[in-house]
Amino acid sequence: MASRVTFVCVLFCLILCPAFGKHLKAVSHFSFFRGNPRWPVGQSDLTYAFGQNFPDSFVPPVVSAFDEWASGSGYFTFSRVADIVTSDLKISFQRMSHGDRDFNGTGGALAHAFAPTNGTLHFDADENWSLGPGPVANAIDFKSVALHEIGHLLGLGHSQFRDAVMWESISRGTVKDKLTSDDIQGIKVLYGLN
Ligand SMILES: [Zn+2]
Ligand SMILES: [Zn+2]
Repeated sequence: MASRVTFVCVLFCLILCPAFGKHLKAVSHFSFFRGNPRWPVGQSDLTYAFGQNFPDSFVPPVVSAFDEWASGSGYFTFSRVADIVTSDLKISFQRMSHGDRDFNGTGGALAHAFAPTNGTLHFDADENWSLGPGPVANAIDFKSVALHEIGHLLGLGHSQFRDAVMWESISRGTVKDKLTSDDIQGIKVLYGLN
């Protein structure tokens, strides 16, 4: 049986607003950050860059996750650029203490990302990541986590819907690499899309 691990996007859990989604609860389970921060109108074409030493083999799952959010939202586009200093979204592997919220070695927090418009996404380099394809026993599926964390970068909090990509945790040896209607509804509500 797969052991359940927390996604532990610690930063979100701390600043998430549990109240906002409540009046929408009858039809959905998504949530936003406190104050509903989002990318400003007119800033839907976002750039992203990888930190130094980001392994090439981990790039395609991230690109694929961006594609999911682009088509799911029907609004955002994502373009890779070289300079992580000036890119909107900044993606890197970090370990242990690294200047914001500490990682804690293998297990526990897998990754974390900041609400708009910060753009920072960190993956824990000490996790047993899997690039698939498909589920790999005892490993964390990298694309599934990338998809979840990009949701945070765009302004989504955790969903109360277990099947949603934005659910707060993922089990080892499982793949959750497609957005659900709950995830898509969340992003559309946040950005006023139909
Ligand atoms: Zn999360
Ligand atoms: Zn960090």
